[in-house]
Amino acid sequence: MKIFSTVAELHASSGNQNKRRILVPTMGALHAGHISLIRLARENAGKDGEVAVSIFVNPLQFEPGADFSRYPRPESADAEACRAEGVDVLFRPVPNEMYADDRSTYVEETILSERLCGASRPGHFRGVCTVVTKLFHLLEPQAAVFGEKDFQQLAIIRRLVRDLDFPVEIIAGPTIREPDGLAFSSRNQYLNAEERAQAPVLRVALLEAAQSRENSSARILTTVRTKIESAPLARIDYAEIVSADDLQPRLTIEPRSLLAVAVFFGKTRLIDNIHLG
Ligand code: AMP
Repeated sequence: MKIFSTVAELHASSGNQNKRRILVPTMGALHAGHISLIRLARENAGKDGEVAVSIFVNPLQFEPGADFSRYPRPESADAEACRAEGVDVLFRPVPNEMYADDRSTYVEETILSERLCGASRPGHFRGVCTVVTKLFHLLEPQAAVFGEKDFQQLAIIRRLVRDLDFPVEIIAGPTIREPDGLAFSSRNQYLNAEERAQAPVLRVALLEAAQSRENSSARILTTVRTKIESAPLARIDYAEIVSADDLQPRLTIEPRSLLAVAVFFGKTRLIDNIHLG
């Protein structure tokens, strides 16, 4: 596995331009969800292709006062996990490799980014679009893999690629969960024992909604909210039913409707979603 920490090293590397390269962008603290995306990348790259993983805790996508400085950075465990998965290229730059102090250019998607997580995290998706653009330029992958857990991010990246003509195929990987249904997330480790015990209520509420025969979004959302609020430590940020494609609200359940929730347990904000209809 080649490890690059600087842009200069990456450029100097004798990358084989003819090899199919699949990129898995991450912020590290790798868990089973990330590993599943790396395996999907490997399948897609084929035996002659290359899997590249980036690990970069991107300061631009943390709102002021958010958890940028305490975000977990287990560097050697992450490198070991990549090695064990047969990753070919690990790119893990430090922030000043990626951003000049006087940077003044950003990439911004202006419609899908306004709602849901974008409403509670101003600037977050601008940070995501900017870093993904840079990673696509630096690593020149033919395809990139993103998780459906961050479905809004996935929709925005698809829009970015379409609108700015990136020659990169976007591949979606399913959400991987703990045995009790909680989606793996690097932020789960912030939860204390009590919060962790209550967090699976998200999945329970989503599954109940998907199994109900209810067609009215408003009624489904009332049931979902009541269920989530039955966990004393849960504080709902949003619960919405939207189109999985353009993220616009849906009043009734139709094909490609998505129920998405964001819930705080203490200071930790967890997100999850499920397809309805
Ligand atoms: P992050 O390191 O949190 O920025 O996530 C990197 C990638 O992993 C993103 O494409 C996420 O959507 C994806 N991801 C995060 N959690 C999961 C999960 N539980 N299952 C599948 N993919 C995930």
